[in-house]
Amino acid sequence: MGEHHTPLDLVRERSPERPVALVRPDSLAVAARWFQAEFKGDVFYAVKANPSPWVIETLVRNGVTSFDVASIPEIELVRSVAPTARLAFMHPVKSRRAISQAYFDHGVRTFALDTHEELAKIIDATGQAKDLNLIVRLGVQADGAAYSLSGKFGVDQFQAPALLLATRQATDELMGVSFHVGSQCMRPTAYQAAMAQASRALVRAGVFADVVDVGGGFPSVYPGMVPPPLSDYVDSIHRGFEEMKVHETTELWCEPGRALVAEASSILTKVELRKGDALYLNDGSYGSLFDAAHTKWPFPVKLIRGGEEVEGALKPYRFYGPTCDSIDHMPGPFWLPDDVREGDYVEIGMMGAYGVAMSSRFNGFGDAETVVVTDPPMASMFGLAKRSIPLPREESTVVKLSSRKGGRKRRRR
Ligand SMILES: *Cc1c(COP(=O)(O)O)cnc(C)c1O
Repeated sequence: MGEHHTPLDLVRERSPERPVALVRPDSLAVAARWFQAEFKGDVFYAVKANPSPWVIETLVRNGVTSFDVASIPEIELVRSVAPTARLAFMHPVKSRRAISQAYFDHGVRTFALDTHEELAKIIDATGQAKDLNLIVRLGVQADGAAYSLSGKFGVDQFQAPALLLATRQATDELMGVSFHVGSQCMRPTAYQAAMAQASRALVRAGVFADVVDVGGGFPSVYPGMVPPPLSDYVDSIHRGFEEMKVHETTELWCEPGRALVAEASSILTKVELRKGDALYLNDGSYGSLFDAAHTKWPFPVKLIRGGEEVEGALKPYRFYGPTCDSIDHMPGPFWLPDDVREGDYVEIGMMGAYGVAMSSRFNGFGDAETVVVTDPPMASMFGLAKRSIPLPREESTVVKLSSRKGGRKRRRR
């Protein structure tokens, strides 16, 4: 990993040909420390949001030593950087082989499930282990997330009590509940509401939970999506926890992905061609811009030319990525000065979560280098940005939460 003070220095010194993932470990450190100071419980980082080794290293150095993993490669990655990290295998559907390897080879003791079949599989694949922490993933009704996660995972309220009881009986160690209110959750009270649902299921089952895991969903800030402060979210969770019928010893966990990493990385791309309001960039939907293409998220952008940031009257652009596929298109609108031309660089901000993580090598592109920078992120939930609100936008770019719930197909989360 190279090191530069700012993206401007990088462009001035060596005009990179390939896209560059600009990473800001200092801003990740601030986010990690914020969660630990404010959240009254254990913070598990959801590795899928950004599995880069620098992320794992920075988190561990700043006290986040628990990780939510979903596959053996994620387990191996975390173990390679942080051999003593605590791992929770929170994917509710796992192969038998993955369960066995996690338990026997990697010392994983915490597993999620949302069916009786998966419970039986876990018991079986760990050789009837008695030292398992078993977390039942509940389906919850939660409004306010830009990405709904209900549908794919979570036991429903009618079947939850029987599964909670069976899981309680299956282990002498911790039995817990988890849920996920959906990614980029814009309403803090969604957590409290989900916790009330979890509490009802536990009461109906007649069991106590040793762990209440409120999942991920903590938001970052994007143009048109400026959430309430993160302190409102932890307040809602702490209130929800007090209202639950739990033991004094019950542990509170959370699994943030996006909120920890989103602002800690941006992508530096080069303009290969301009056609009217369309800019052809050297990174796209098969690289780091999956969300900009498929969910049409407008990300904040900056124009860099010859080592200087170009400012001036802004106009809306759309982007095309480097592959030959016509869906490699990011509609934006992205607001940049009106004289953008070939050879300019566009820095796309707030790409730390689900950006680099989604990159493929399709068509021979998508290979980005990583450079550490120390300038502030374009927007911040932790008071780190120069501007508190990202770049201008049109009404049409505002993500309409109500029209986004359900219905949309996503491959992850
Ligand atoms: C994806 C995921 C997370 C992280 O979600 P964010 O919205 O990025 O915070 C946490 N827990 C589970 C089980 C997940 O699948």
